[in-house]
Amino acid sequence: MSDIASVVIVGGGLAGVSTAAALRSGGYVGELYLVDAGAFPYDRPPLSKDFLSGAKDLAQLALQPAEWYAEQDVRLLNRSTVTSVDADSVVLSDGTVLPADRIVLATGGRAALPPIPGADGPRVHVLRDVEDAERLKAALVPGARILVVGGGLIGAETAASALALGCEVVLAEPGTPLAASVGPEMAEWLHAMHPARGIDCLAARVLAFEDGPDGVRAKFEGAGEGQELREFDAVVVGVGLAPRTGLAEAAGLEVDGGVIVDAGQTTSNPAILAVGDSARRRIDGDLRPCAGHWEAAQDDGRRAAATILGKPLPAEGASWWWSDRHGVHVEAVGSMAAADTTVVRGAPGAAFAVFGLRDGRVVAAVAVDDSGAVRAARRMIDRGTEVDAAALADLATDLRRLLRR
Ligand SMILES: Cc1cc2nc3c(=O)[nH]c(=O)nc-3n(C[C@H](O)[C@H](O)[C@H](O)COP(=O)(O)OP(=O)(O)OC[C@H]3O[C@@H](n4cnc5c(N)ncnc54)[C@H](O)[C@@H]3O)c2cc1C
Repeated sequence: MSDIASVVIVGGGLAGVSTAAALRSGGYVGELYLVDAGAFPYDRPPLSKDFLSGAKDLAQLALQPAEWYAEQDVRLLNRSTVTSVDADSVVLSDGTVLPADRIVLATGGRAALPPIPGADGPRVHVLRDVEDAERLKAALVPGARILVVGGGLIGAETAASALALGCEVVLAEPGTPLAASVGPEMAEWLHAMHPARGIDCLAARVLAFEDGPDGVRAKFEGAGEGQELREFDAVVVGVGLAPRTGLAEAAGLEVDGGVIVDAGQTTSNPAILAVGDSARRRIDGDLRPCAGHWEAAQDDGRRAAATILGKPLPAEGASWWWSDRHGVHVEAVGSMAAADTTVVRGAPGAAFAVFGLRDGRVVAAVAVDDSGAVRAARRMIDRGTEVDAAALADLATDLRRLLRR
């Protein structure tokens, strides 16, 4: 650590800010730059929830209070774009060169936009940045005809927020979203919430958009008779994340659907690390998908700081995420894809959780309005606790008791 006197973090989202915080709390006393293209470092999950609905304003999204950066001696360069990096320096768009012993790429991602003709039209939105959210919010007026394309996490949350704002919402989703990550039972129940709340769900694909004087027309495939062509005031496309890897590619780093990093977040160049939504971990030869979730971005920052400081990596547990839609809170932990059996506990409308088991041990869980079940599952996964499936399914069983076995 002693030879590291300057660190530049590129990107001031959650992963970048977490890296800066973990470096300082870990004892790093050298120069520390945080360069971000936006107006200030903010949190993204509220963009599809409380910010869109108006329950939170922009100032409430700040990841840290404004004074935190000076208190932590973090040189925050807002509205600054990094145009290139190499092993020992970072170049900004105004020509400034920041020398660096270590560089951390925390560049996040863009909202993926499928190659649908007309998707670049003025009434077609995505939701990744605060600017996207502000533009979309202006379109979500009561009575507006809104099409949401994609029923995954962001699509579902946006559809629910638009409905709550009084819009007429159509959701186009040809499959059962999230089935791979939450299992079929929960995925079907979550998706069925939309029509139950008044959203018109089309099991259809969008083939094209055409902007006209009174709205944008969407051409569907598989929507049923009379539904092939419909007009909307605005469209929101929520079909996933495209990691921002341009700087890494130009620097010659290994990139494959994300900047490839090892267990300690180091890229193929030992002086450059990558964290958050732009990074993809390869551990023991196993290339993992980009996590794309809030907690993972924070954990990446802690690991990167430990690597830079030459400290042991923090212990890793099962991955966790949450989502809020139609007034319910969904949490998930672990990997449902790894399960050979699922156990349903409770039923929709009350406490409702699904556990994924493999060889008698919990490997995943997802719950609606039951954070306690997910917390218990997380401990079971991390400890490798063997569980009795019947006891797990029984609402009378205190899950903490299963942990004591
Ligand atoms: C609408 C929305 C809702 C979400 N909801 C949830 C949720 O409910 N639960 C959950 O677990 N996760 C959720 N997430 C995911 C979570 O917010 C992300 O995983 C997290 O924000 C990733 O942080 P990051 O720092 O990697 O990337 P980002 O937050 O994208 O930050 C990257 C930053 O890098 C900056 N940058 C990029 N390139 C440059 C450059 N060349 N020069 C300077 N700056 C640059 C960008 O401006 C940006 O500020 C949501 C995401 C979105 C978009």
